[in-house]
Amino acid sequence: MLHLNDPTLLRQQAYLNGAWCDADSGDLCSVTNPATGETIGSVPNMGALETRRAIAAANAAWPAWRAKTAKERSAILRRWNDLILANADDLAVLMTTEQGKPLAEAKGEVAYAASFIEWFAEEAKRVAGDTLQSPWADKRLLVTKEPIGVCAAITPWNFPAAMITRKAGPALAAGCPIVVKPAEATPYSALALAVLAERAGVPPGVFSVLTGDARAIGGEMTSNPAVRKLSFTGSTEVGRLLMRQSADTVKKLSLELGGNAPFIVFDDADLDAAVEGAMISKFRNAGQTCVCANRIYVQDGVYDAFAAKLTAAVEKLKVGHGLEPGTTQGPLIDSGAVAKVEQHVADAVGKGGRVLTGGKRHSLGYSFFEPTVIADATPDMLVAKEETFGPLAALFRFKDDADAVAMANDTEFGLAAYFYARDVKRIWRTAEALEVGMVGVNTGLISNEIGPFGGVKQSGLGREGSHYGMDDYLVIKYMCLGGV
Ligand code: ADP
Repeated sequence: MLHLNDPTLLRQQAYLNGAWCDADSGDLCSVTNPATGETIGSVPNMGALETRRAIAAANAAWPAWRAKTAKERSAILRRWNDLILANADDLAVLMTTEQGKPLAEAKGEVAYAASFIEWFAEEAKRVAGDTLQSPWADKRLLVTKEPIGVCAAITPWNFPAAMITRKAGPALAAGCPIVVKPAEATPYSALALAVLAERAGVPPGVFSVLTGDARAIGGEMTSNPAVRKLSFTGSTEVGRLLMRQSADTVKKLSLELGGNAPFIVFDDADLDAAVEGAMISKFRNAGQTCVCANRIYVQDGVYDAFAAKLTAAVEKLKVGHGLEPGTTQGPLIDSGAVAKVEQHVADAVGKGGRVLTGGKRHSLGYSFFEPTVIADATPDMLVAKEETFGPLAALFRFKDDADAVAMANDTEFGLAAYFYARDVKRIWRTAEALEVGMVGVNTGLISNEIGPFGGVKQSGLGREGSHYGMDDYLVIKYMCLGGV
């Protein structure tokens, strides 16, 4: 079972208005370890009523929270950051146990999660307005920025801590309370963050975590007029639904939705670097990130060499339980995720794809899948159109730059893209031509708290992290002072 230095970090109740609570009905949802299928524990199965209560508490807590100086809010956030870092080992064990990722990756995510709290603790103090040139001699024009109000967040299981702090950090920094609904699969990371928020001095109602029925909680979050903003990270399908549901109360939305990232290797690329980048971009978190390379386009002249080097690198991955030392690939989140990878492999093979390595469920059983490389991928395959969200690298062949860019852009998604090249003109032209929110040039790893994360097209709205990320939680007020 779970061994934590601080066992109080594992909470099996939700955190609402500064109190640890059960569902009104007493119902529970169980939480499973994806490496074994064993039950870790349970959390309350909450619904609309508890959500309404959490929103009312957030609304009541808002005036006092926004009235604090930015420096006071910053100090609380800074303490939260420090506590997250001080408890990183326990948070990582909790995360690996509920999510499956290797412990080293979980520790990396905890640091990444804390970085958003640290960053927005700093940014809190830099929210500033403007004075504008007046067209009237006797009037003055000013712009201030105010917290938007009560925020709601719905987060996914692939980054159980960072997707929460990336939303809660700017919300709290801006002066907004936030009610969070974590993914069903990974509530414990969220609840542990709440324990630490409480210890850091975040007041009751300012940060609440509800577990349970996604539809019921989401329904209340999107229809309740007190919620001024919803921030969602997850699938495009659910994002569309939440956007529709939010229309009646005209909420501000941040949506970080699906991706289908192209990864282009041009013939002048440093192939070893490209392989290293592809490994990070494709196989991190067992391929379960929205910025994972999904379609790898390799130019004719280097195709075979790249395929051989990538295959050799993939064969060195060590699949295993996340808590076992040396593991570099954990299980997928559940059997549905495994079935999707299996479907993409079968579809690709049926349409002429060649399996270079992997291709089937792993002998460890349960949610494990072999890291897989498939050559001769074509645009009619499922893997070209849908996010696989698993450890499948599909290699497509292309002739020239125009081909590569056209294929890369041939998707409704526009989150991240990557390419490897040396020629300066090619680098500029390609970076500009890709229809995405983020481009990795000669790197497979782009996420950090300082760069603006977000997509174009049906990959979403808004930007998270960075100094732009604060704007999503602020509204502009224009004041016109007459009779001066
Ligand atoms: P994934 O495929 O990564 O699980 P989802 O979009 O299904 O992506 O899930 C992301 C988050 O959205 C999770 O917290 C999940 O519980 C939540 N969710 C799923 N369906 C709904 C819904 N109908 N209303 C509100 N939240 C939902």
